[in-house]
Amino acid sequence: MKKNNSEYFLTYKNWLRKKHPQFSLIRKISIDGGFTCPNLDGSKGRGGCVYCNNNSFSPSAGDRMLKPSEQIVKARHKMDRIFAGAKYIAYFQPFTNTYAPVEQLRDLFYDAIQAEGIVGLSVGTRPDCIGDDVLELLAEIATKVPVTLEIGLQSANDETLKRINRLHSFAEFRDAMNRSNHLGLERSVHVILGLPGESQQDYINTAQSLWEWDIDAVKIHPLHIVRGTELEKWFLAGDYQPLEIEEFTVGAVDFIERTHPDVAIERFTGEAQGDMLVAPDWAGDRIQLLNEINRLFELRGTRQGSLYLKK
Ligand code: SF4
Repeated sequence: MKKNNSEYFLTYKNWLRKKHPQFSLIRKISIDGGFTCPNLDGSKGRGGCVYCNNNSFSPSAGDRMLKPSEQIVKARHKMDRIFAGAKYIAYFQPFTNTYAPVEQLRDLFYDAIQAEGIVGLSVGTRPDCIGDDVLELLAEIATKVPVTLEIGLQSANDETLKRINRLHSFAEFRDAMNRSNHLGLERSVHVILGLPGESQQDYINTAQSLWEWDIDAVKIHPLHIVRGTELEKWFLAGDYQPLEIEEFTVGAVDFIERTHPDVAIERFTGEAQGDMLVAPDWAGDRIQLLNEINRLFELRGTRQGSLYLKK
């Protein structure tokens, strides 16, 4: 049976409903704030993470020339027709969305939250780009609308972080998490299953490493190979094999069993669309992934948080 929900874990959609019962439907609008990344512009590195498609982030790409509020109007033009009555979260998504002087961030974030229909702000970034001045700004905005800080960890294993050329460490993630505690921010952590050299035990270790903090959401991506990346070269040379769907399912269920029951599980699919996705071919099939994960929970007789042991 095809299911679009889960009785075994807290989906992001249900978490939003619980959090904001006054709105019947909330969707995210992805905004390009015109940022770059310290792992691409040379301040830390130029190659980027091995799975990052630098070309898909071309500086001349259309929407980044528009103000956030203009991008929101443009996106709503299409989305309002599909999601009648929806409210929106302004989601600063591509690149590193806190990698700019704080006054520039202030202009961008306030422009976005003042747009019609916006009821929240979400900011995706790296752990090494979250200064105290940025946190102060986000805490200030959080007194007006809910703010989610989306932090890319990917793995708690420093050897893996080196292998994939993240150019930040778990210690930097810990520091960012400690400093962003108790500021009235929601925090979402992004992790990837299937990173080169990792085993199922690494996914469990990463899940358990998050027990140190109260978090609000996790995004669990399968590592997928995007055209034009270093990872594609490794794949074509036979040096990297993506996970099979069954392996990803075991990893995701192990992870969710070790995640607090109140934490939203945000998504399982990769971001790459159409021709950009090289492999695995199941990475974009949300319903199939959801079915596999539900089925494994049913078989194990467990659910989200069954193995969460934080004291
Ligand atoms: S941190 Fe993000 S934008 Fe920067 S290189 Fe890695 S994947 Fe690309």
